[in-house]
Amino acid sequence: MNRYSVFGLMRGALGGQKHWQPAWRDPEPRASYDVVIIGGGGHGLATAYYLAKVHGVRNVAVLEKSWIGGGNTGRNTTLVRSNYRLAPLHNLFDFGLKMWEHLSDELNYNVMFSPRGAMFLGHSDADMTMLAQRGDALRCDGIDAELLTRDEVAKVEPLIDMSRTARFPIEGALMQPRGGTARHDAVAWGYARAADVLGVDIIQKCEVTGFVRDGADGSGAVVGVETTRGRIGAGRVGICVAGHSGQVAGLAGLKLPIESQTLQAVVTEGVKPMVNSSVMSQSLHCYVSQSDKGGIVMGGDPDNWPSYARRGQPTVIETAIAQTIAIMPALSRLRMLRTWSGVTDMSFDGAPIIGPTPVRNLFINGGWCYGGFKATPASGWTYAHTLATGAAHPLNAPFALDRFVRGATVDETGVGPMPNHR
Ligand SMILES: Cc1cc2nc3c(=O)[nH]c(=O)nc-3n(C[C@H](O)[C@H](O)[C@H](O)COP(=O)(O)OP(=O)(O)OC[C@H]3O[C@@H](n4cnc5c(N)ncnc54)[C@H](O)[C@@H]3O)c2cc1C
Repeated sequence: MNRYSVFGLMRGALGGQKHWQPAWRDPEPRASYDVVIIGGGGHGLATAYYLAKVHGVRNVAVLEKSWIGGGNTGRNTTLVRSNYRLAPLHNLFDFGLKMWEHLSDELNYNVMFSPRGAMFLGHSDADMTMLAQRGDALRCDGIDAELLTRDEVAKVEPLIDMSRTARFPIEGALMQPRGGTARHDAVAWGYARAADVLGVDIIQKCEVTGFVRDGADGSGAVVGVETTRGRIGAGRVGICVAGHSGQVAGLAGLKLPIESQTLQAVVTEGVKPMVNSSVMSQSLHCYVSQSDKGGIVMGGDPDNWPSYARRGQPTVIETAIAQTIAIMPALSRLRMLRTWSGVTDMSFDGAPIIGPTPVRNLFINGGWCYGGFKATPASGWTYAHTLATGAAHPLNAPFALDRFVRGATVDETGVGPMPNHR
């Protein structure tokens, strides 16, 4: 495999760009693997990479029913941050944020991580009190959080309507300077390429349609998967299919505390830099940032009813756009380029699920709601630990599936799936 470097680019320029190799192989499935991962999104690919790199488990396959990164990984709005209020959440996400800072070097692939700051706006005294409490909780755990005054907000984002007659007045904000954005599909491609180099088989167009259960010892342990490309044996199987978690777990007879809902986003035509950070408003249920190509990316709440359709209701995305324009009126002059949606796995406490299932050899990683992209490195690292050792990693221990039975939910919002997990 060629190492990507500036010298390679220069050599390519001189040699007619003929030396490039495919970034990963296109292997036929083998009869069996030590670990089979279902789902070739960022989380599944990162898990495979860390299994091979950190744990030396290289006899691994990632099975993807369509193309890698074509699920929520390639559909999200790329916000990366770690400023959750509860310790189990911010510790996991901050472990990931530190990994983002070196990910391009680690993978030898530019994931375009851009720490331009992630800012939650406060529109009232009550908002500011909540943001201050969150900031205190973060700083107690060594995570960056700065409470901004109105003037400081205006300095970061001059296009926000700071007038006292604004529809939603701005009282200040909570800023995480290390937060920002990353290029979503580059993350899938970077992990895929790096995992492939270590011997992981990435098998696209291979849908898992069932589980092979061991009848011999009566335990019903999973010993393989049925796929559209035949039966594949497995020592351990890791589900990593985001919005399809309920469907795939259902193939093993499991019912998850997850509801699949459509989440939409929108991007405008490309313009010169006008939004400097990632701006979010939890009160208004909307957020905005600018992509490196110049498009203004906006999003809001999910459609709030169960669906596997990757097609959202216009009224939902219209509301998010209207709220964003109320904050930054200049955006109203831009033309919309496209909207799209993905199927998100909304868990009932709004926190992810990572760990074993009641079925032996079967593990689950899901329930990331609409905030799992930022967790990709941390999710892969901790899930790989669990798949390799069979035990929880200290960072994913609070997110075991059985927390819902034990009454140990990690409920940051206190009211179930809410717009805090973007
Ligand atoms: C519009 C939108 C905006 C978002 N914005 C953000 C954001 O700004 N920041 C953030 O942190 N998060 C965001 N998210 C959430 C984030 O995208 C997801 O949590 C994250 O990408 C999930 O990654 P994944 O690898 O688990 O899932 P995916 O990328 O969806 O990968 C799962 C894969 O499993 C495959 N699969 C499904 N069933 C099977 C089967 N039976 N057999 C084989 N393969 C199967 C699918 O084809 C898919 O490729 C957003 C999501 C959406 C939809």
